[in-house]
Amino acid sequence: MSELTGVTILGSTGSIGVNTLDVLARHPERFRVVALTANRNSEALFQQCLTYQPQFAVMADPVAAEQLEIRLRAAGQPVEVLAGAAGLEQVAALPAAGYVMAAIVGAAGLLPTLAAARAGKRILLANKEALVMAGPLFMAAVREQGAELLPIDSEHNAIFQCLPPGFTANSLDAVGVRRILLTGSGGPFRTTPLEQLSEVTPNQACAHPNWQMGRKISVDSATLMNKGLEVIEAHWLFAASPEQIEVVVHPQSVIHSMVEYVDGSVLAQLGHPDMRTPIAHALAWPERLASGAAFLNFTQLAKLEFQAPDFGRFPCLQLAFAALETGGTAPAILNAANEIAVQAFLERRIRFTAIAAVVEWTLEQVGVSTIETLTTILAADVAARTVANEWIAARMAEDMR
Ligand code: NAD
Ligand code: MG
Repeated sequence: MSELTGVTILGSTGSIGVNTLDVLARHPERFRVVALTANRNSEALFQQCLTYQPQFAVMADPVAAEQLEIRLRAAGQPVEVLAGAAGLEQVAALPAAGYVMAAIVGAAGLLPTLAAARAGKRILLANKEALVMAGPLFMAAVREQGAELLPIDSEHNAIFQCLPPGFTANSLDAVGVRRILLTGSGGPFRTTPLEQLSEVTPNQACAHPNWQMGRKISVDSATLMNKGLEVIEAHWLFAASPEQIEVVVHPQSVIHSMVEYVDGSVLAQLGHPDMRTPIAHALAWPERLASGAAFLNFTQLAKLEFQAPDFGRFPCLQLAFAALETGGTAPAILNAANEIAVQAFLERRIRFTAIAAVVEWTLEQVGVSTIETLTTILAADVAARTVANEWIAARMAEDMR
């Protein structure tokens, strides 16, 4: 019998984390869970520890880590509990875990995901924000340490599947690729009358037509910032210039993205919208594994539609393209401002339509620098959060009127 592959899941209590555990549980002959991590929810991580028996459990929040430790001891579970950023980085680089699922949401995932790259792991990358913030550093760490970077974002996983086998981000031209066609559903407000957008609630924004996801990415999908972040993600993963990436709105989310070749061929990856498919793909690559996802029934697919994105309705998409063109720390600034604005919207402190305004304002206020080191990126992130919070503090009352 072959040896089991050890897997660390960063963000195991989230939507991607839970789907990953579901796929792993279908293949106990191949994988074992080495480490699980979560932010504050010690109850959820405790339950996962009982079920999956990892060696390590990490809570980002130290108080939650203590609670988890007490409960595990009382239950007689020999799980080692770690806390904080150091604990996250430690389990991302464990010798016993060859694979690391990077599924923390937002900038909080950057350092542990980078630690996995520096330790030469197979990284299953869901945490797109890490790559958006630190693209050049991250890709360099992957190359230098011989890490494997496999995209979990359904679009990028689809593109990876449609590129020549073993494509490693050098040049799309060299393999005859003309364009990447990045599909997106258009989110829950694709057809909402424009004048109603300022009134939509967090729950409406999180009611995605095709995907069940965490609240932050759900709001990003509603503003199309998610598609913007994905454009930047595609740039780094596939060495695609902004001109080589076209966003195509496809409301049914059956085609997960496409690659167009110079000879006119277009390759697409299709499937039922279920994140377990890209997760299983990245776990098994270059082999294939059952994921638990339903299979497509073509006779029941009524129609597949395609449209151009409405940049006027969704200014965040344009802001992301512009940040990619600007380069340097601009994507990190865009990402940080967006995280602050989305949080404020979810807490009902600003309107849905103010998210783009906060991001635009922050990009205008914070100076962009070239990326020299991680410190440059983290400084841009902090500066952008400060400016975005200032916008919110200054205009909140007037915005909500
Ligand atoms: P989620 O909110 O459901 O889960 C986030 C996870 O990260 C949780 O386990 C949480 O405990 C942990 N976490 C949150 N803040 C943290 C912090 N400060 N420190 C440490 N851990 C923290 O999010 P999700 O929907 O699973 O998304 C995770 C990532 O995957 C995001 O980057 C998202 O863009 C990406 N992604 C998600 C989907 C999806 O279908 N959900 C699809 C594509 C990409
Ligand atoms: Mg996606």
